[in-house]
Amino acid sequence: MSNWAAKRNRRNEVKTRAAEPSHMFRHCRVIGCNKPARAGTEDGLDTYFCRTHSDHYSRHGSPYNRSYTAKELGPYRKAVLAWLEANAEDQWVRNAVDRVETLYRAAGPHLEAFRLRGLSPEARSKAAWARLRKAKTDPRRVVAAWLAVEMAIAADPQADRKSEYKRVQTAKLVHRMASGTHKRWQSGVGGEQELHVYPRSRGRVLRHIGSDIEEATALLVEHTASPMLQGSARYAEDRGQGPG
Ligand SMILES: [Zn+2]
Repeated sequence: MSNWAAKRNRRNEVKTRAAEPSHMFRHCRVIGCNKPARAGTEDGLDTYFCRTHSDHYSRHGSPYNRSYTAKELGPYRKAVLAWLEANAEDQWVRNAVDRVETLYRAAGPHLEAFRLRGLSPEARSKAAWARLRKAKTDPRRVVAAWLAVEMAIAADPQADRKSEYKRVQTAKLVHRMASGTHKRWQSGVGGEQELHVYPRSRGRVLRHIGSDIEEATALLVEHTASPMLQGSARYAEDRGQGPG
């Protein structure tokens, strides 16, 4: 065999092997799902789930659990916001609010939603903070989102308790607070034109936003929030408003 042919064979062999998933990851990791696994999602998340489950994981932060609905989280958000207002002077409440404001300030320039394509997930998470800043979103709503998700999870016996789920669930809530880009203009041919672009709420950008919020609220959760969380979870449950 010529040197060249040997090289080519070697190259093909490496290619074939790389294309074969290792035995462990051949099937989706979700129990009872026998579909073949993919190595990752289009958002760059490394997952070992099938297409359906990796898509679910990308959007919801859990391969199994759906997202909490606005209706399910509503009572918790309301209870937490009232608590944050009543404790506005508490040093740990102030610390969390300051940290969210720092995220706003450090986010860099505001970008229109249609300019996000091709940016890294981290850059898109910064853009999300800049949108919240521009929309003058009350930083307490961001703090409340984290605590509300903590409470919903605490009250839910079927919850996915991994921190990734918490991060993604909170990020989805916060992502929704800053709406997309909306433009309207007159065009010579078609008359009035409209453009509505919403940033995609899935993938690694949500993990970045979520861990930013987790860090911002860490001291508050550690020092004062726990008794409040327990009390408010009971409060919401007593009224039959907790997630089922
Ligand atoms: Zn699957």
